[in-house]
Amino acid sequence: MPKFKLPSGTQDILPADIPLRRYVEETTRRLFELYGYQEIRTPIFEYTPLFVRSIGHTTDIVEKEMYTFLSHQGQVEPDKSKIKGSEDTLTLRPELTAPVVRAYLEHQLAKSNKFQKFYYIGPIFRHERPQKGRLRQFDQIGLEALGSYDYLVDIEIIKLTLLLFQTLGIKGEQLVVNSIGCPKCRVAYQTALKEALAKSVSDLCENCQRRFQHNVLRILDCKNKKCYEIASHLVPISKFLCTDCQTHFNRLTNGLDELKITYQIDPHLVRGLDYYTRTIFEVRHTTLGARNDLGGGGRYDNLVEELGGPPTGAVGVAIGVERTLLALKSAAKDKVTTLPIPKLRVFIVTVDPKARGYAFKLLSQLRERNIPADMDYEGRSLKSQMRLADRLGMPYVMIIGPDEMQKGMVKLKDMQSGREQDIKKEAIYEILFRDN
Ligand code: AMP
Repeated sequence: MPKFKLPSGTQDILPADIPLRRYVEETTRRLFELYGYQEIRTPIFEYTPLFVRSIGHTTDIVEKEMYTFLSHQGQVEPDKSKIKGSEDTLTLRPELTAPVVRAYLEHQLAKSNKFQKFYYIGPIFRHERPQKGRLRQFDQIGLEALGSYDYLVDIEIIKLTLLLFQTLGIKGEQLVVNSIGCPKCRVAYQTALKEALAKSVSDLCENCQRRFQHNVLRILDCKNKKCYEIASHLVPISKFLCTDCQTHFNRLTNGLDELKITYQIDPHLVRGLDYYTRTIFEVRHTTLGARNDLGGGGRYDNLVEELGGPPTGAVGVAIGVERTLLALKSAAKDKVTTLPIPKLRVFIVTVDPKARGYAFKLLSQLRERNIPADMDYEGRSLKSQMRLADRLGMPYVMIIGPDEMQKGMVKLKDMQSGREQDIKKEAIYEILFRDN
């Protein structure tokens, strides 16, 4: 038994798993850049208050799921009560919207152009109970468009999210949309919720009993079975939308209809982060089991201001890479084999150890010419080197001994036909390129 195991809820991404991931990442980059989104990379950790402020005190993420540590003594578990206003603690990012907004403000990116479109790909950390499709470290792909209140941007983000899944070869995804209005609509809604829940407060989970006091809306998003059951009978926010929010939502659904995008309206959909306003959406997939959302997002028109900037409309989406891979594996197994990951073309075999220096130089020259090549580093016998080349599925083996060194030649063996030919060193590139 190995002495050390990987931490619960994390994963090693082994070489065999890389091609599919790269396929997802490269498809993402190509597609998103085509739509004018630029890549952005922010740190793995941020000062804790950024997340508390943006995601919200009473959300699951902030209450239970953040990996937070003191910035001076990384190993010490901080006193949670001190976290809220302090910059002495750092948190491994549990999402990427707030860091992107922070970077947008900190670097005054709006100066050149207020409207900016970003995408990201990177790891996220949440202390959740691990299960299929739910990890403690996972990757998210995301889009953020900052600087516009236009419903067309909501549609662009939704369309691009669906297009990514389609381009990857995923089938059967379902789009669910809703509007959760703006703070103005929520005042009346919160009062209505409180009235409706007043009698059943004691049936709610401990967290929701607190939420009832501080942020009653969050009860709608609780994963506890009993709370979920109670929440599903409550009046939806759609009945409380102000005229502007209702107009925005109508335009959105009309726009989706015009593009022939199929969707369902779920009046009970709310998403787990406090910063959303108006449009919210989720893309679900049936093969994923209990946690069936591949991605989700929405508008967050107040977040930029909340983080110290001017009023700025914004909308985004976050897509889970691991869940996308699960859906992809069930939908398009054959894609995996067609990925353009370079395969090794040639293995250099030395007849005697004296030829190793010469072989190594040749190996570097091949690689400089973009021919994927390798040699033995374990001091194997000639026979064993040949067996290894065979096992690795090398199309060619290049054999080098004292004779070849002296004459500036190599013996090239085609492993499929078994044919061997003595050729001048300079000619090998042409042969290997020709077949590449
Ligand atoms: P969220 O940031 O919670 O809106 O999540 C966006 C997407 O990230 C979800 O639709 C999932 O695909 C993915 N996701 C969220 N939490 C996890 C997790 N714990 N493990 C794996 N993927 C996750």
